[in-house]
Amino acid sequence: MSTTDHTHDPAAQSWVSSANEATGDFPIQNLPFGAFRRAGSDEDVRIGVAIGDQILDLKLAAERGRWSTAVQVLLQPLAQGDLNAFMAQPPVARLALRHALFEALLAGSKQEAALRGALLQQADAEMQLPCRINDYTDFYTGIHHAVTVGKLFRPDNPLLPNYKWVPIGYHGRSSSIVSSGTPLRRPRGQLKPPSAETPVFGASQRIDYELELGLFVGPGNALGEPIAMQDAEDHLFGLCLLNDWSARDIQPWEYQPLGPFLAKNFGSTISPWIVTMEALAPFRCGFERPAGDPAPLPYLDSEANRQQGSLDIELEVWLQTAAMREQDLAPVRLVRSNFRHAYWTLAQMLTHHASNGCNLNPGDLLGTGTQSGPLPEEAGSLLELTQGGKQAFNLPNGESRTFIQDGDTVILRAHAERAGARRIGFGDCAGRLLPALA
Ligand code: MN
Repeated sequence: MSTTDHTHDPAAQSWVSSANEATGDFPIQNLPFGAFRRAGSDEDVRIGVAIGDQILDLKLAAERGRWSTAVQVLLQPLAQGDLNAFMAQPPVARLALRHALFEALLAGSKQEAALRGALLQQADAEMQLPCRINDYTDFYTGIHHAVTVGKLFRPDNPLLPNYKWVPIGYHGRSSSIVSSGTPLRRPRGQLKPPSAETPVFGASQRIDYELELGLFVGPGNALGEPIAMQDAEDHLFGLCLLNDWSARDIQPWEYQPLGPFLAKNFGSTISPWIVTMEALAPFRCGFERPAGDPAPLPYLDSEANRQQGSLDIELEVWLQTAAMREQDLAPVRLVRSNFRHAYWTLAQMLTHHASNGCNLNPGDLLGTGTQSGPLPEEAGSLLELTQGGKQAFNLPNGESRTFIQDGDTVILRAHAERAGARRIGFGDCAGRLLPALA
């Protein structure tokens, strides 16, 4: 498991002055990876590291900086735009590059003159998906979400008996995962309103967001070779925000008996920056189960997981309607929650996924499931916040919402902060809903 070191020193400052602003998402302690191209250009996608309001272009940094031979080798795939190849490297390699980039960006570094020309303003970049996502699985680790939604779908039997034993998930589609800022179209589908006798085909009237984190897999495993809990952390590369857009009128009609399908795969938005597990080291916390709940089976248990398997990450959902945009009103925060409420840890998700020998590959994405907190105002979806659309949520400009309307922009945000550590953030995960095709 990654531990803290000099790269987490809250006093460390960068020669990139915007990185030193106290509330910024990308101080020198963060150093997340993303893929970008210059706005309006059709040049090849490049890999970069966010620093303040800038991006360190790793192609230019590899050419112009002074690096040890070992670091040059690590930079090579990144300079070629291939983040997956770097994700395949063991944790020791990830740490070596983090240390080299930290040193190069640190105030007073001899590399400043060479690397100034390798910076690009984030405002001048178009962010892309950070890597090739070959496979995507969505878990269901938010127990408060599972209980609340379970009550709406099955009032007599909200939490199914397997929930506290097995990390529930389903295989999603990677083809419809899009980077923040990509608009999505309201889907059409087979719907059956609760009052109706027979289904109809039409535009969904109940579009919702889901507040999730996405875990990017590092090295992964060969087919047939499970990953033990004590090795799981080596395979966790980093996290992004994930909005698992959901059509709540398609979902209840289609989900039995094989699980989510077309209610989920019309689009999933991720934030462009992958915050590494190394950067998140100061925000680890213990994994706990409420008294009386079953302990995880031995293959999902480890001492390290009990001590430090969870993460304290603040999560938020913001909304800006079309009317707000026209009136020049800033987005409003609907809810806040925290990833520490998750019923299963990242290591347990990964170990369980590989426990049957299923192979995970570098760049695969594992969604955490909707992260609702224990309180009603910590709901990670509108389905929960509006009690299935019964109780509208009032916005400050006089509008209200039960579900997402055409033209609405949903923005997920996250940050981690703790006494003795520098606050780090994830950047925005934003998506706007377009009207359905006629
Ligand atoms: Mn989901």
